[in-house]
Amino acid sequence: MITNDFFTFALMNLVKLNNDIAGKISSYLSDKGKSFCILTHVNPDGDAIGSALGLYGYLRSKGIDNVSVIVPNNYALFLHWMPFNDIVIVASEYQKLANDKISNADVVFCLDFNHPSRVDNISEVLTKSRAFKVLIDHHPQPESTFFDVVISNVDVSSTAELVAILIYSCENSFDIIDKDVASCLYAGIVTDTGSFSYSNRNTQTYLIVAELIDKGIDPVEIQRSIYDTFTEERMRLLGYCLSEKLTVLPNRKVAYISLTADELNRFNHKEGDTEGIVNYALSIGGIELAAFFMERDDVIKISFRSRRLIDVNKIARLHFYGGGHMNASGGKLKGSMQQAIALFEQLFSNQDINMYL
Ligand code: 5GP
Ligand code: MN
Repeated sequence: MITNDFFTFALMNLVKLNNDIAGKISSYLSDKGKSFCILTHVNPDGDAIGSALGLYGYLRSKGIDNVSVIVPNNYALFLHWMPFNDIVIVASEYQKLANDKISNADVVFCLDFNHPSRVDNISEVLTKSRAFKVLIDHHPQPESTFFDVVISNVDVSSTAELVAILIYSCENSFDIIDKDVASCLYAGIVTDTGSFSYSNRNTQTYLIVAELIDKGIDPVEIQRSIYDTFTEERMRLLGYCLSEKLTVLPNRKVAYISLTADELNRFNHKEGDTEGIVNYALSIGGIELAAFFMERDDVIKISFRSRRLIDVNKIARLHFYGGGHMNASGGKLKGSMQQAIALFEQLFSNQDINMYL
């Protein structure tokens, strides 16, 4: 625990969960005989895996043995360094095991998503489950009736930060958090804040991060593990995207990059290799809306990023069967790459993108 007076004072003012919620969850955690599942969304990102494994480590520290972490499909190799990574069950590879664990769970934590449809191949078993369901998430417009307890706050940087707040609220301190749990939660916060560069972090984020660093984690090594471990093929794929596949629309406010399945195969694409490519399109001065299109199985998966008040959650929900945050969202379209790009260009070539404010 950081003892400096300033921190102690600031932490006392940390936003805690209301007592009802913390009390309810604490009472479930005190029954060591219960079985727990922790689920995250399809195509899990750093916050999904970091928050899930951080919560897993916390439950283990509380002496709870029967905990499973289940993700719908596999995730980027640059997230596999995290403590407890070995225990993750990838449902697309072990579907029966995943279904059995979820159907037999007494308590299911749903992390970093807010609608049962976001867990794809485990959404049916989740929907049928009679477990006590706890939502911990920071996306807008949660499906609140499905969950028994809703911990949802769009003003919190990440689900990992919310897990830290949950732990603090249940324990009245961060004492129980060890280096492993702290590393996972830190990874979630780093990835969802773009290494503390996005507008979604605030004083509280930094106070919590100070506590996590105080547990002895290695922020430099974590940063390297996540961002500086490209394979050569991934780096060349990025180079190809930037030199050959970047389109800036004539209004100079919108840019996009696309990759077909053939192109991905040419660079021996692995899960996570395209992560972050969309941000380069947004890094061009003047660009306010960026998109990345990727052919995946039989759909075109699209990532959107925006600056300031352009609401890409609205864009993804209205036109691309998706959702997300105001400045980072995703969606998908059935059909060809040409059709997806044509729709995008039709929407954003001429119209004033300020209508999405
Ligand atoms: P990404 O572009 O990195 O896949 O996702 C950016 C954000 O949008 C993440 O918060 C992610 O959870 C959300 N997101 C991505 N795809 C979808 C989707 O198809 N539906 C919804 N509701 N959210 C999505
Ligand atoms: Mn998140």
